[in-house]
Amino acid sequence: MGGVYIHIPFCKSKCPYCDFYSLRQNETQKKLYLEALLDEIKTNRRLGNLFDKVNFTADTIYLGGGTPSLLDGTDIYNIITAVKENFNISENAEITVECNPNSEIEKLIPYFKKCGVNRISLGVQSAVDIERKKLGRSSDKKRILDIITTLKANGIFNISLDIMLGIPEQTVNSLRESLDFIKECSVTHVSAYILNIEKNTPFFNLKDKLNLPDEDTVCDFYEFTSNYLQKNGFTHYEISNFALPGFESKHNTKYWLLEDYIGIGPSAHSYFNKKRFFFENDLEKFINGEEAVFDCDGGDSDEYIMLRLRLKDGLSLKELQNTYGEEVLQNILKKAPMLKQQGFINFTTDKISLTEKGFLISNSIISQLI
Ligand code: SF4
Repeated sequence: MGGVYIHIPFCKSKCPYCDFYSLRQNETQKKLYLEALLDEIKTNRRLGNLFDKVNFTADTIYLGGGTPSLLDGTDIYNIITAVKENFNISENAEITVECNPNSEIEKLIPYFKKCGVNRISLGVQSAVDIERKKLGRSSDKKRILDIITTLKANGIFNISLDIMLGIPEQTVNSLRESLDFIKECSVTHVSAYILNIEKNTPFFNLKDKLNLPDEDTVCDFYEFTSNYLQKNGFTHYEISNFALPGFESKHNTKYWLLEDYIGIGPSAHSYFNKKRFFFENDLEKFINGEEAVFDCDGGDSDEYIMLRLRLKDGLSLKELQNTYGEEVLQNILKKAPMLKQQGFINFTTDKISLTEKGFLISNSIISQLI
């Protein structure tokens, strides 16, 4: 089963650390974009020959951004309804909308219910208001709690919160405050991302003045977060993701399992039929009907190993051998014992997976294995 991702490339303002493709909201552009988006959902002319709708079924729809919650309820309803009408979507699909707490989410809820949105991903980043402010986020902790309470009162219980590790001036005590808040919110899923200072963001030029925690401290934060959430019933099912049993993100898991997904909108990426393709970071080009660009063939053994090892479940050696052959299997078997001895991987006769210690330096461990 596949997934459909729709990108909404608008935000109220630009957060100083963000390098996602998003533009300051502009009503004229928004109107033109929504027309182009609905046109693409109906016709797939921009996805062109790279996509064949007949051989695609999906059980997830994900509205991400940017800030999808900046749209009107009717726009969200129209987009999701159009996806359901024009793609082969299974009945109990997971339908997620990313929301920013500074949006008027209460107004959107009736539309969410009407078109079957059953999962909300809320960008909290930190429950410490001063840290949120540094990240360019205006809403406060009380506002976040009110939104969560209202969503639940309206029957939307599957709620994911994003938090960030390595925020300027973050300490273990302030992190604990964020995690205590998450516990108080009783949500089903948490994504914990380490703040990367990207070029072309205001934070890049300011980085020496931001008082950022050093690398070792951020590693401690990661371990602290993982332990805290696991003690509270969450499974650390992917490097940056934690879920209560049964609430793992179905949509994001497709990326790691190399299942098909189609991304629509500027900067959205797709993986279909072992091919990777994407729309350029260019709103105008998308509006004007420019086709998606072929990126590369996907799904080779390196990619398989790299993506599977992001998951706590790791990779099946039998599947690796059956799909990619004996040589690939032997190569990984040669390197595994040493990494197991060092405590970075679990290694049994049929499986390899990263340990918590391995998650912490996953890039290095994965590159050693491939
Ligand atoms: S709201 Fe999200 S997408 Fe928009 S600028 Fe901030 S971090 Fe980036």
